[in-house]
Amino acid sequence: MMNAGDIENGMTWRQRAARLQPRTQIFIDGAFRPARDGRTFVTHDPATGKVIAEVARGGAEDIDAAVVSARRAFASGRWSDVTPRERRETLLALADLIDEHSVELALLESIDGGKLISQTTTEDVPGTAAIFRWYAEALDKMYGEVAPTGGDDLAIVTREPLGVVGAVIPWNYPLEMAAWKLAPALAAGNSVVLKPAEETPLSALRLAELAAQAGVPDGVLNVVPGLGVEAGQALGLHHDVDCVTFTGSTAVGRMFLEYAGQSNMKQIWLECGGKSANLLFDDVADLDRAIEYAARGIFSLSGQVCSANSRLLVQRSIYDRVVDGVVAKARSLRVGDPLDENTEMGPLVSNQQLQRVSRFVEAGEQQATLVAGGRRPADLGDECSGGSFLEPTVFSDVAAHATIAVEEIFGPVLAIMPFETEEEAVRLANASEYGLAASVWTDNIHRARRVSRRLSAGTVSVNTVDALDVTVPFGGVRQSGFGRDLSLHALDKFTSLKTTWFAAES
Ligand code: NAD
Repeated sequence: MMNAGDIENGMTWRQRAARLQPRTQIFIDGAFRPARDGRTFVTHDPATGKVIAEVARGGAEDIDAAVVSARRAFASGRWSDVTPRERRETLLALADLIDEHSVELALLESIDGGKLISQTTTEDVPGTAAIFRWYAEALDKMYGEVAPTGGDDLAIVTREPLGVVGAVIPWNYPLEMAAWKLAPALAAGNSVVLKPAEETPLSALRLAELAAQAGVPDGVLNVVPGLGVEAGQALGLHHDVDCVTFTGSTAVGRMFLEYAGQSNMKQIWLECGGKSANLLFDDVADLDRAIEYAARGIFSLSGQVCSANSRLLVQRSIYDRVVDGVVAKARSLRVGDPLDENTEMGPLVSNQQLQRVSRFVEAGEQQATLVAGGRRPADLGDECSGGSFLEPTVFSDVAAHATIAVEEIFGPVLAIMPFETEEEAVRLANASEYGLAASVWTDNIHRARRVSRRLSAGTVSVNTVDALDVTVPFGGVRQSGFGRDLSLHALDKFTSLKTTWFAAES
């Protein structure tokens, strides 16, 4: 078992990774077990192409067992009915355990998802602990309401947990996405069945084990790895699940709406895809910073970020300078082994994702001008020769209707397009079926306010990209979904309001 002390002993990150002993079974009722039918699936390291582990492949029977366990735990009241302060202490203990096991968790996250170790150690794992801590601290400070009914009647409005929450998450931030769902759902007193993405099941299984160690009672948190079309669908269709919180593609989000309609009308919350626009006006004072952030906004995590700034809209007078600057930045990025701390961009999550993104690059070459990247990087070294890598890729002069301007690519591919006026910039930015996030760069405060009001997006970042914090709600409009993760607003998804009316004496 790996612990923080190992970081001192001079091993490379790859050597440390080789010592990991990932949990690979389904976690139900506080214990690991194989799938009912004994099936498994393989999870790979996308940087090397090598198999990491065979993982239990949960199916409908396993989902049912997890839901039964979650329901039993909920009905027992051993989590749902304890004092908020007790739940707070347990979730704080979990946050401490995440910190204690940060090296192991960061490595699991990096090898399973191809994520940079420089980021999993400094962002993903500390960020996960911080989210549990924030909801732990929030939960015993939430008050109910007394309604202004008048007279001697008394009506109180309280928040109650829903019961059994299903959580289905993607592979780009396996730990943080789990925390976005689990922390508020558990804080509110629910039991949860979590289905991690098939590409990245490992960190969630370890997290469940740590939660049990922290004192989360058996059955309150269950993790069922498996395929979307099997375990994910079974969770969506289950008749005893009260709510599904989903983060993933718009296509699958749509299916969850259907599952709810076909089963028990469970509540569905969707955080789906995006095609976020980054608007650069020519009055921005620090253009170099804007260029730097434009590159960061698309190449971070190889563009596999739902709010990635994949469309860069640039005012004509600064267009050439911005294109040159972004191209220079793209060409200078160090692409390679995510377990090398100097690497700036790692692989895509899988070979399948690489093929998908490469098809978009081919389509782009027919419709726009390829000005950087588009190929597999040279000199990846022996370790990464079988990995799923793509160069940071930039297209300029992209038309608004071009495939690469419309479709969510979910890879390191930027579409740059010019605009003349503020009016045109807003129109181009809103010409998308998505509405997750947008960025505006301007030093004119009136323009910043005007434009951000008119953009169809859940989050608008002004003079930065991808502004995000546990204190602010995150989610989209249009086909980016509905409902909000993070902030106190996330608790709305996992609680229902109950009115209790005490009649006055007659
Ligand atoms: P995906 O939709 O393919 O998978 C997401 C989850 O759904 C996985 O756990 C998967 O197993 C499950 N799933 C797949 N098919 C299913 C089915 N038929 N029935 C039930 N479950 C099924 O998405 P992905 O490829 O893992 O992730 C990338 C997508 O996630 C992108 O579209 C990205 O924008 C989106 N995303 C959105 C946010 C957000 O907050 N809005 C955050 C991260 C990622």
